[in-house]
Amino acid sequence: MKWLVFPIACVLGSVGWVHAQPSQSFFVVHCDPGYAHLFPKLRQMVDYATDKGVPLTLELSPQWVDAILDDPRKLNAVRQWQALGHEIGAHHHGIYHCFWDSLTNYPIDTIWKVRGDTSLVPARCARGVYRGTLDSFYARLDRVAGDSLLLTWGSSDQHPEVDLYPFVPYRTDGSRYDVRRAFSNPYVVTHGPYRAEGKTWGPYTTCQIDYYFIDDRNKVDAVIAMYEDTAFSNGYEVVGVVTHVFNFARDPMYFRTWVDFISGKGCRTVRQILRRAPCGVTRNVVVEGKEKVLKMTTEGEGEGVQLSWLGKADIYLYDSMGRMLWARRGVRAPVSLPLHGMPSGVYVLLCRLESRTEVRRILWP
Ligand SMILES: [Zn+2]
Repeated sequence: MKWLVFPIACVLGSVGWVHAQPSQSFFVVHCDPGYAHLFPKLRQMVDYATDKGVPLTLELSPQWVDAILDDPRKLNAVRQWQALGHEIGAHHHGIYHCFWDSLTNYPIDTIWKVRGDTSLVPARCARGVYRGTLDSFYARLDRVAGDSLLLTWGSSDQHPEVDLYPFVPYRTDGSRYDVRRAFSNPYVVTHGPYRAEGKTWGPYTTCQIDYYFIDDRNKVDAVIAMYEDTAFSNGYEVVGVVTHVFNFARDPMYFRTWVDFISGKGCRTVRQILRRAPCGVTRNVVVEGKEKVLKMTTEGEGEGVQLSWLGKADIYLYDSMGRMLWARRGVRAPVSLPLHGMPSGVYVLLCRLESRTEVRRILWP
């Protein structure tokens, strides 16, 4: 039970410290729709954070993903950032968000009912345009994430299970009003099931961690004050903040102040923190994702997973950090996944079939 070692070690570790601050920190950057032209600003943020040894978790909206995939120099920069330890995640503004990014899995009637209801979406917000479901976003996200696989999703939807990428195990959440939300311990949330117009989404389970939104010096000072107030922060394992690229573009000073402060204080990406958290692990093999072309059968409790499909396929197995563990290319069914002897945790299976690519999450054992 390798996953249980970490929290116990944390508890024991904190006994010797009367006033211990959070042992880990993360910094999420939201790359919002409408601001993809600010890529050079994001580069400045990443460069500064890299210099200070602060890995960023970059949550990209569909518009940023498009801009990056359309420009090899940008994609190349992203690959360099990943190599330096930064994480690529996903960001999405759903139909309840004032600045909806135009994609959603909600049915058409529900979309326009929500967009037209001023008790749900303020009257000042544009009604928006519908460009399709999130499938194209998922596929393009996986290309931006590359070999490191997409694992983290950050958005604030009313019903996260509708638009949530069903295969991502980690999610960030939080507040722009309550500074206490900067402090949290990893926790598990089950989203859904949610039903609308005869369809059902979820339930999906994610391992989560919280952040507080910073965009000026006062907010940074407020987080620092709470961090230093060990009577409060002692109870938390993690401190996390989020900001936007467009906030940095207006005034980079608050960003630098926070990076300078948090440098050297247990800085990690979201995936690094959550992979060590004792959440998302169940006793039995659980395979999540809809049954489509690929069939997965568990061979009994703790026994393993067998795959079957038609035709040839490329099969890849990744660990919770997105590292490729095992691959078989151009093979025919059936194939058994080599899970025996592997540590407990979340694994991700990616299968390129002739007709489509499928991704599944496996909680082992
Ligand atoms: Zn946003």
